[in-house]
Amino acid sequence: MKKFLAVALTVAMTMTMLTACGSSETAADSTEATAADSTEAAETTETADDTAEETEAEAPAADETAENSDAVSEALADGVLTVGTNAEFPPFEYVDDNGEADGFDMALVKAIGEKLGVEVVIENMEFASLVSSIGSKIDIAAAGMTVTDERKESVDFTNSYYEAVQYVILPADSEIAAAADLEGKTIGVQLGTTGDFIAEDIADSTVSQYNKAVDAVNDLINGRVDCVIIDKNPALVFESKFEGQVVAVDGAQFDFEPEEYAIALPKGDTVLLDQINAALEEIKADGTFDELVKTYIEAE
Ligand code: GLN
Repeated sequence: MKKFLAVALTVAMTMTMLTACGSSETAADSTEATAADSTEAAETTETADDTAEETEAEAPAADETAENSDAVSEALADGVLTVGTNAEFPPFEYVDDNGEADGFDMALVKAIGEKLGVEVVIENMEFASLVSSIGSKIDIAAAGMTVTDERKESVDFTNSYYEAVQYVILPADSEIAAAADLEGKTIGVQLGTTGDFIAEDIADSTVSQYNKAVDAVNDLINGRVDCVIIDKNPALVFESKFEGQVVAVDGAQFDFEPEEYAIALPKGDTVLLDQINAALEEIKADGTFDELVKTYIEAE
């Protein structure tokens, strides 16, 4: 995150405002847009200031980064990569015993930060807020996030790093076994996820949205929902956590399509995109990626 960018934005917004005042034809529209935009700019400035203060002392990396590569993304110019996640999605992200966000994605972004020579700061937030926070509160999001066309309208994605599919978590004695059985059911999901979108499309479904996946699974056990639709690996974690009470069934059995996880970043920041893709490639080539899969995913 960089102060300069925020200041430049504010200046640009002010200029837009001045221009808007001078033109009567589009005044109404421009004023509306500008009001929203300048709020955004003010927020951006605040976040950028905070980040700069917090990290000034311990951010050694900006110069190193400049040495390592020709172009430096504005987002990394202060030596800090601020990564948004929702640490409710084991094994990709969860809060560990020390209260820190940990998991596969967290280890992956730290490895990326190392390759880029920047400090990684994690911001834990609601999954549904991640996409809209990219470019203001956070630089990028790493959250087992599936690449979708809708999200691509607001953010760009790196090359994908993991294949997933939605699973259906059921009570151990459930008779639900195929797509048609899901019709008319009460379905628990994590708010704003691909599981949520799938559930909404099922005929006559009632969708219960949760911020934390574990709350959906608890409601499944309590009989408040008939099933939970969630990504494969978290589903398997919950199956073993609540062994004997729930089972996790492969979404292929319900005709769910495979999905790809990628890191989301500001739309149009091709410098950052190239840097992260290059780092990802190195991490795969040098064996780090496979190590992380073994440690975080296969160990589950
Ligand atoms: N892969 C799903 C999505 O992108 C869920 C991600 C999550 O809950 N962290 O919507």
